[in-house]
Amino acid sequence: MPTITPKHSAAPTTIFTVMSALAGQHNAINLSQGFPDFPLDERLSGLLQEAAATGWNQYSPMAGLPALRSAVAADFTKRYDVGVDADTEVTITPGATYAIYTAFTAILQAGDEVIVLEPAYDSYLPNIQMNGGRVVPVALTAPDFGVDWNKVKAAMSAKTKAIIINTPHNPTGAVWAREDWDTLAEVVRDTDCFVLSDEVYEQLIFDGKRHYSVLEHPELRERSFALYSFGKVFNNTGWKIGFCIAPPALTDAFRKIHQFAAFCVNTPAQYALAAYMSAGIPNNVGALMEGKRNFFLNLLQELPFTVHKPAGGSYFQLVGYEQISDMPDLDFAKWLTINHGVATIPISAFYHNGHDDKLIRFCFAKKEATLLAASEKLRSL
Ligand code: PMP
Ligand code: GLN
Repeated sequence: MPTITPKHSAAPTTIFTVMSALAGQHNAINLSQGFPDFPLDERLSGLLQEAAATGWNQYSPMAGLPALRSAVAADFTKRYDVGVDADTEVTITPGATYAIYTAFTAILQAGDEVIVLEPAYDSYLPNIQMNGGRVVPVALTAPDFGVDWNKVKAAMSAKTKAIIINTPHNPTGAVWAREDWDTLAEVVRDTDCFVLSDEVYEQLIFDGKRHYSVLEHPELRERSFALYSFGKVFNNTGWKIGFCIAPPALTDAFRKIHQFAAFCVNTPAQYALAAYMSAGIPNNVGALMEGKRNFFLNLLQELPFTVHKPAGGSYFQLVGYEQISDMPDLDFAKWLTINHGVATIPISAFYHNGHDDKLIRFCFAKKEATLLAASEKLRSL
């Protein structure tokens, strides 16, 4: 038999598959994997049907349907007051996970180092290793999960090729301030370090805060790939469509990989997104998710979990369970699913070494009825 050498050191099966499968097996309420359980706007699903029925069913241009790239550029120009060129700076991708992988593939050579702030979305580490890179982890500081910039500076070396950052943050819900970007700019100035800025939750930001995008920082923008997901904006994670915004030279390198990895993205869905965005339909996803976070925080008050800090953005709330158990977090998450009918994500899955602070993550991007039913089950704790 030929042998296969593993390309990464991450878990053999991603925690999202493990916990969603366990939830299914035990008929538990699934607050683990991050996805809404309510329908998308029917005008958007209608446009998808219309696209397929009217014949938008063949390959689209490699970089994405021009109408969708233009809609993205117009949307960013409007919401952030930054110029974005639809032709040379926007590439539509099959999801943000793929966009992150493609950006790493575009820039990494064997032995290059990438700084990852942990806890980190679980695809970063394997994506870096699959491209021959070496992960240099830097721990975020609990309970705020802010960046300790001295640790980042200490982690930089002559081999540092990139740093990947994520705000609003999965899994902690932490949000970067304007000053964080300025400090990052200082740290990478005069280095060969690219920035991958995972901003998939940019519109899910609460408490009157605003998201600062890397695109608004002219110095950083020159060396950055900014990555986005339509799934989080339009409640359609299963469409798996995202995009990358990067300066022309970086976009060129990105497309050199993308043209041979996927070539292009589902055409009718791109058509539907372009038509929907151009129709100027107001999007209230941020307020919607903030309402869900508040609703869920209220329910948590009645339950024996510890909320160290309310999520400032994203789909997720972290909690401690020290009042219930001292089990390792994976065992606790499985036990909770099997015995109390609610699935969550253990945070150790977001560390290269399984570091365990005994925290779990709830996804609150759900119908109020789902969150209520989950809290009722958890009252038995
Ligand atoms: N980055 C982060 C931090 C995420 O939580 C997600 C969620 N899926 C993604 C990227 C990927 O988004 P997509 O579903 O578009 O691949
Ligand atoms: N981003 C989502 C989460 O963090 C799910 C991603 C996935 O299933 N790979 O839960």
